[in-house]
Amino acid sequence: MKTALETTHFDAGLIRKYNKQGPRYTSYPTAVQFSDSFNAAVYRQQVQFSNEELIPRPLSLYVHIPFCHELCYYCGCNKKVSQHPEQAVPYLRALYREIELQAALFDHDRDVVQLHFGGGTPTYLSDAQLAGLMAQLREYFNIPQSGRHEWSIEIDPRTMDENRIDLLAELGFNRISLGIQDFNPIVQRVVNRIQSPEQTEALIVRARQQGFRSISVDLIYGLPHQTVNSFKQTLDTVIAMRPDRLSIYSYAHLPELFRAQRLIKEESLPSAETKLKMFAATIQQLTTAGYRYIGMDHFALESDELCVAQDEGTLQRNFQGYSTMARCDLIGLGVSSIGQVGDCYSQNQKIIADYQAELENDQLPITRGLVMNDEDRLRRTIIQQIMCQDRVNFNAFSNKFHINFRQYFSVELELLEVQAADGLVVLTEDYLEVTPQGRLLLRSIAMIFDQYLKQTGNKARFSKMI
Ligand code: SF4
Repeated sequence: MKTALETTHFDAGLIRKYNKQGPRYTSYPTAVQFSDSFNAAVYRQQVQFSNEELIPRPLSLYVHIPFCHELCYYCGCNKKVSQHPEQAVPYLRALYREIELQAALFDHDRDVVQLHFGGGTPTYLSDAQLAGLMAQLREYFNIPQSGRHEWSIEIDPRTMDENRIDLLAELGFNRISLGIQDFNPIVQRVVNRIQSPEQTEALIVRARQQGFRSISVDLIYGLPHQTVNSFKQTLDTVIAMRPDRLSIYSYAHLPELFRAQRLIKEESLPSAETKLKMFAATIQQLTTAGYRYIGMDHFALESDELCVAQDEGTLQRNFQGYSTMARCDLIGLGVSSIGQVGDCYSQNQKIIADYQAELENDQLPITRGLVMNDEDRLRRTIIQQIMCQDRVNFNAFSNKFHINFRQYFSVELELLEVQAADGLVVLTEDYLEVTPQGRLLLRSIAMIFDQYLKQTGNKARFSKMI
């Protein structure tokens, strides 16, 4: 087995050269390719095909709760800030209806093996609202009481005390992800997110006592007033809490797209070079502390299921980042949610009022999506392997997809020769393998196989790596 330190190597020169805008490949094709011509009728047909498969896939549910109590100024999420919890009542009514409509499409013997509540802030909901929502899901979907299942929820420690962790455990959740971003008081003040290490740690400790696994935290580097040293101190505090997973995102300042970010003064942001140093120091600090760089923004302890799945070649990439659950159909519930059923992607209305209006008329709120063709499936599999397994075996693809890989991808292989010369990949007659320095540039390698980028050349909608 490769060790954490062997799997990643920081090369500042290479990162500067390849630090371009590009997709994060939580899906392929990416959401940019979704079309308005995809509608609820197409979706229903795709669900029917998925029910008719020889062995229908188990189900994974994503539930989006778009409300937050306060605005974090760096935020680029789809959310609604409100101090009035009753705001959630009409939304939940619509969500309940969507659960009924969606569940009716799927054969009831299809087990739900994975459930994720994301946001916004799912813990914006009251205890009674959370319990009611879980009851609604259990009533309409086939949710086994035992067996291997992952019920995860994103929590905002500012909305929680330890007793709420007990409630989440009672409701069946066994994974949590905590938003932190940064513990430095000055940084917290300028991004309007005040949160103490003590309140965060108390929740982690209680979650462990309650048997939660794969406890995950989110951090952001590149926030205003952060320095290499201040971020290192935040990381030291976080490492001492020993979460199983860390997601460390690069802050992308796009005030023209995200209104909240206009509250951040541009001159308070660290420079690109400082961010690069932060990223280098982060990798050094985390790998020294026993975390493996999984890929993109994700790190995990060697004992975590993500590392096990990566070693076993079963790691997946989906809309939540990296996942261990292979071969599921994902149903997206709630405003703006994205689903992936069989060969299609679908997305719900992005505006809460539109979402609720559709459901008041008993319509599925699906507004756009895409049905994959053979070419998409082939390229998606290659991109998944680059992002998750660091290796593509040409013969295996030739056999599985009935192509001559070297001929079929002759243009891509020529482009890869350049990356091989730069040391991002090793290229042989039979396979390509991502090198330790290439692991920090996975999306640059994957982009070579993205035919839509080639067709449109449109990279402007994507963020840079750092
Ligand atoms: S960062 Fe999270 S908690 Fe803050 S406004 Fe955005 S979605 Fe809400």
